Amino acid sequence: MRVYLDHSATTPVHPEVTKVVSEYLTEKFGNPSSVHVFGREIKKAIEDARAQVADLIGARPEEIIFTSGGTEADNMAIIGAAMANQKNGKHIITSGIEHHAVTEPCEYLAKQGFEVTLLPVDKDGLVSLEELKDAVREDTILISIMHVNNEVGTIQPIKEIGEFAKEKGIVFHTDAVQSFGKLPIDVNELNVDLLSASAHKIYGPKGIGCLYVRKGTKLQRITHGGGQERRRRPGTENVPGIVGFGKASELAKESMESENKRLTYLRDKLMKGIEERIDHIKLNGCRENRIANNVNFSFYFIEGEALLLSMDMKGIGASSGSACVSGSLKPSHVLLEMGLSHEIAHGSLRLTLGKDNTEEEIDYVIEELPKIIDRLRSMSPLYDAHKHKR
Ligand SMILES: *Cc1c(COP(=O)(O)O)cnc(C)c1O
Repeated sequence: MRVYLDHSATTPVHPEVTKVVSEYLTEKFGNPSSVHVFGREIKKAIEDARAQVADLIGARPEEIIFTSGGTEADNMAIIGAAMANQKNGKHIITSGIEHHAVTEPCEYLAKQGFEVTLLPVDKDGLVSLEELKDAVREDTILISIMHVNNEVGTIQPIKEIGEFAKEKGIVFHTDAVQSFGKLPIDVNELNVDLLSASAHKIYGPKGIGCLYVRKGTKLQRITHGGGQERRRRPGTENVPGIVGFGKASELAKESMESENKRLTYLRDKLMKGIEERIDHIKLNGCRENRIANNVNFSFYFIEGEALLLSMDMKGIGASSGSACVSGSLKPSHVLLEMGLSHEIAHGSLRLTLGKDNTEEEIDYVIEELPKIIDRLRSMSPLYDAHKHKR
């Protein structure tokens, strides 16, 4: 059996998306900037996709800029807004649990003379509105807080933050890569000025995403070239990616409600199964304010990498907040920020569900995971010491 439970890393491309993408990789090849019919029909396809993406978040099509993905959208938002607003101040507020696509541009700006405040989160990974209010200063020009955390699935109080930012006249960006297409989003209701999204997290192609830019929001462009995307993101468009992103957005809108119900059921079954069968564990993230497809537990006396390898041998694809996988010894900054010790953070496991997961697959994981944990613990000197202490 092969079970893919890593949908927060990426998703399989929906067959209907593949269909439109391949159309625009073959017969429909024109350059959208060309005046002839070959170009014009491509231009129209891009504008249709823009409307599909905008429709998913209650935006106007002209407020959507296509980018190469979530990372570029985050960079564009943070560096672009900071540069455009620096005469009003150089202070930026973000949280300690953001994706690297947000933390790295903030660090870059800090080296350029901006000041960055990292808001702490509570043990569930939630930002506090009160702490945000306390952190705001006269010279605060930008707030960037993610909508849903990619590791622990916690949903932040974006609406409240948006309301406050608007009241203060501070530009508000949210990295919505993990909520776009999964939670109902209305940019006007949430009062966000800038919002990042990515296609490959919603069954679209990799290498395409967008930044929503509220009309009137000042943004300095970070790449310079031709007139594409109203000069805000020059370069010949990734046409197959864009039409694929449009299709994926349309499909996400259609299935959002039913998928949320289905995934919530499977997720709760998986969480319950793990909690009933395995002891010495800790749920990471918030039980209530949690995205429907995320399960994240720490297993005491276990090394995340060993766990991933054992699961891989059983055909289960998952991920861990333990970062030896990516070549560093430091565990996830998100888990550490939530107050976990290095040891407990290293023993974390993230299982993220998606549209093709079945109940049989969940049953299989509930069956196999306890056996794997037992075996790993039986070899663990830490577990041995713990048993002898008792
Ligand atoms: C995946 C992800 C990104 C990066 O998006 P890419 O399209 O892969 O560049 C940014 N933020 C979050 C929260 C993500 O999950």
